[in-house]
Amino acid sequence: AKADGRNTLRFFDPEMQATVIERATLETALRYAIEDQQFLVHYQPQFNEQGDIIGAELLLRWKHPERGMVRPDEFIPLAEETGLILQVGRWVLETACKQLKVWADQPYFQNLNLAVNVSQCQFREDDFTDQVRQILEETGASPKRLKLELTESLLIDDIECSINKMHSLRALGVEFSLDDFGTGYSSLSYLTQLPLEQLKIDRSFISTLPDSHNDAVVVQTIITMAQSLKLSVIAEGVENEAQKQFLEQHGCTNYQGYLFSKPITVTEFEAFVATHIPL
Ligand code: C2E
Ligand code: CA
Ligand code: CA
Ligand code: CA
Repeated sequence: AKADGRNTLRFFDPEMQATVIERATLETALRYAIEDQQFLVHYQPQFNEQGDIIGAELLLRWKHPERGMVRPDEFIPLAEETGLILQVGRWVLETACKQLKVWADQPYFQNLNLAVNVSQCQFREDDFTDQVRQILEETGASPKRLKLELTESLLIDDIECSINKMHSLRALGVEFSLDDFGTGYSSLSYLTQLPLEQLKIDRSFISTLPDSHNDAVVVQTIITMAQSLKLSVIAEGVENEAQKQFLEQHGCTNYQGYLFSKPITVTEFEAFVATHIPL
């Protein structure tokens, strides 16, 4: 049995009790984190086939005073369940748009695109389009520089509603990337109905390249599909040259991953961009 170092209640099911307490603690901490501005975003650079930086994905980080940097996988599910993601997600969108505005009159930086992850509850909000419109207006950011990353599972939940909402956002000038592509169970027929600009191949298919025959086939199929639908395609989680080469040979156009850069602070990202400006 586990050493009872925690001095917690041990009535029925100790495991479950611990979970409930941890959950409650985490929820309180999460609420406080919003007030106390413990969130920050990291920027992970994205590249085209020529190796130019085309932008970055914003990845949320929680800098907890005692626990240190908490990974999104550890708090986003709870933030979604409790609805706290609405505030945090809005803040990430604002952060992206403010940054786009800062870069708007700087040569080279003005061409960078920022991609923001949108959670299911955020996208489902009735006034999500209005929120995005308002943030764009208030910050003065160019909508065409903003890319929203949506997942298949988020969209197929209510496909009619999703298509309408995407069109209203698209009318603002915002573009969409279909995140974690390939991991869903959805039928492909709906793909043509979505006003997408990009498919993003999930890291799980990239990590086993080029050795896994099955993943190689999946990746090739996604790239071919993107080409026939006239969509751009980005591979996430590219960690080594062999993976990049495979992707290149099969017509992938955009890249993101540790091979190029880990997610970094905005200051680091600006320095990174500065050293990559083509002469
Ligand atoms: P995701 O959208 O699939 O993001 C990609 C994840 O892969 C990120 O994890 C990124 O740091 C990681 N990654 C990038 N390149 C590599 C690589 O070469 N190797 C490996 N092993 N990993 C790589 P991260 O930052 O921990 O984020 C995890 C998930 O949390 C994201 O998955 C996304 O679903 C969610 N998330 C992050 N930020 C936000 C946000 O602002 N809002 C919402 N709703 N979700 C977010
Ligand atoms: Ca993403
Ligand atoms: Ca992914
Ligand atoms: Ca994702």
